[in-house]
Amino acid sequence: MLSFENTEIAFNQRNNKDLKRARLLFRMIGNNSLVAAGKKLTQFALGFNIPVDFIVKPTIYTHFVGGETISECENNVRSLEKAGVKAILDYSVEGKESLAEINKALDETLKTIYNAAEDTNVPFAVFKPTAFTTRNVLEKVSAGIELTETENTEAENFRQRVNRLCRTAYDNNVPILIDAEDSWFQNFIDKVVYENMERFNQEKTIVFNTFQMYRRDRLDALRSAYQAAIAKGYYLGAKFVRGAYMEKERARAAEKGYPDPIQPDKVSTDRDYNEALKFCIGHIDRITVFNGTHNEFSSRYMTELMAEHNLPKNDPRCWFSQLFGMSDHISFNLASEGYNVAKYLPFGPVKSVLPYLIRRTEENTSIAGQTGRELSLIMKEMERRRNSR
Ligand SMILES: Cc1cc2nc3c(=O)[nH]c(=O)nc-3n(C[C@H](O)[C@H](O)[C@H](O)COP(=O)(O)OP(=O)(O)OC[C@H]3O[C@@H](n4cnc5c(N)ncnc54)[C@H](O)[C@@H]3O)c2cc1C
Repeated sequence: MLSFENTEIAFNQRNNKDLKRARLLFRMIGNNSLVAAGKKLTQFALGFNIPVDFIVKPTIYTHFVGGETISECENNVRSLEKAGVKAILDYSVEGKESLAEINKALDETLKTIYNAAEDTNVPFAVFKPTAFTTRNVLEKVSAGIELTETENTEAENFRQRVNRLCRTAYDNNVPILIDAEDSWFQNFIDKVVYENMERFNQEKTIVFNTFQMYRRDRLDALRSAYQAAIAKGYYLGAKFVRGAYMEKERARAAEKGYPDPIQPDKVSTDRDYNEALKFCIGHIDRITVFNGTHNEFSSRYMTELMAEHNLPKNDPRCWFSQLFGMSDHISFNLASEGYNVAKYLPFGPVKSVLPYLIRRTEENTSIAGQTGRELSLIMKEMERRRNSR
């Protein structure tokens, strides 16, 4: 049976110094009060334009981020390649809405597509749809609220920007993943993504939508997306994640008094997640599946489904993915077994990727004082190295 226990494979790319830095980092971010204080301090520093680069860059940034630019990510891409792991360069600047920032994001994302077309170790491009218009417009269109003339123009601009990215991906034969964020933006995003899928996925899967399985309605959304793909004769690109914004979703639903869109508990999220994988592997003739998770069961489960359906480990329609700096034990052990694995490799200026980094620290805070999984794996590998001297 596939095992994720081999820390020698998992940390082969990390020297002793890297491991020591990672141990210190995960010890710090395992401390809930330290993370809460760090988040407040960072927000304060940003608000008052106090530089944080000198603390953030050599520590948390280096662990979770590839570099400030595409070319700065090169060393990490090559190092992943040595272990048979691919990289997906993700321009992770978040929360900007000015036209200049939108154009900058467009420019950077186009560059990632051209870069992927040239680099066999970069099999996908990716973008966050909120980088390409205002939240106000996404929210209003998604809720079916009437738009002003200016907002209408902006909604159309969004459509054209996404279309330009998908068309460039198609022209360069680079599959493109479109991330999912807050549920109140998603109706309009879905609409635009499926328009592009219909256009560009006729011969093969180029455009992928993301399904956040912590949402109660996403299994049905997957089934409908599959039916639409059959009816219109295109291939469905389906990326799965559990979802990163649970607290925000629940808080907004409570505040505005609508039913919580999130599953009642973790077991339900897990159930739908694994059910979605089962559905896709069962309909693999029409779907390319991208399993974006740090969950060992869901990663192993997909390998079992692939075996049941006699799919080769490197079937080009089956992908596994983790974030850079997390769950290397899953990524590198899967890759060493011959599965298709790609790490999301975020890049961008230190200040602009802070929201991404804050999410990663929150994801890694400890539950009831337990040693987090990342930390115990790092410690296990350090001990193995000590004993093998
Ligand atoms: C390659 C990749 C791409 C990603 N892209 C996106 C993206 O586009 N959009 C996005 O939102 N996130 C994205 N993420 C982040 C992802 O959503 C989180 O990493 C993920 O939620 C962590 O869950 P997990 O599958 O690793 O497994 P686990 O650690 O087993 O699950 C944790 C998750 O379960 C869910 N959960 C926890 N408690 C409960 C509860 N009480 N009730 C209901 N559900 C619960 C939450 O989603 C929580 O994050 C991506 C992650 C990866 C690896």
